[in-house]
Amino acid sequence: MSTKISSSALVVFSGGQDSTTCLYWAKKHFDKVYALSFVYGQRHSLEVEIAEQIAREAGVEWSKMDVSFISQLSTGCSLTDDSLEIEAEKADGAMFPTTFVPGRNLFFLSIAAVRARELGIKHLVTGVSQTDFSGYPDCRDSFVKSLNVTLNLAMEEQFVIHTPLMWIDKAATWALSDELGVLDLVRYRTLTCYNGIPGDGCGHCPACKLRREGLEKYLATKA
Ligand code: ZN
Repeated sequence: MSTKISSSALVVFSGGQDSTTCLYWAKKHFDKVYALSFVYGQRHSLEVEIAEQIAREAGVEWSKMDVSFISQLSTGCSLTDDSLEIEAEKADGAMFPTTFVPGRNLFFLSIAAVRARELGIKHLVTGVSQTDFSGYPDCRDSFVKSLNVTLNLAMEEQFVIHTPLMWIDKAATWALSDELGVLDLVRYRTLTCYNGIPGDGCGHCPACKLRREGLEKYLATKA
């Protein structure tokens, strides 16, 4: 898309690298942007505070919704259970890494769609990516397209779920944030780290590794 759509969009917004890049992508393409953050029992409440700060500075309407029931539905997720180790890779024989929160994007996008409908918005934006999907089935394009159809049928609406990062890797996501003029903001202010450290993060968790490798790859192409 190169032209601005004269309507509004609602961004599912965590305050991390991907959704912050999507927030600015949405600002470029839509007249009015709303950001919705979810409290789902994640280890670090700082995540939501950072999301609020970034959204407010970006001049978008921000709100949060408590969906902490998600963490009560299933056990064994290291992002919502402090007693579990965050593993870099899924264990041998396991279907998913411990960082998988079952149903997370299903709930987030469904709730965002109901909220969007209430606000008269038909465009939803999410930062999921099949390229770096880490084995999360609800980051895949087929899931998002299927849910899009389901949401339209469920509410007799014409929602369009935008996934600007679906087919690009972390390096290209950094390139996009640079193109949008927010590389430094994304680099120093967002929180992606599983250990709750903003900016470059702890440096050794899976999220920091993926983020850093992408950044190094992108900066190498710039030099
Ligand atoms: Zn980290």
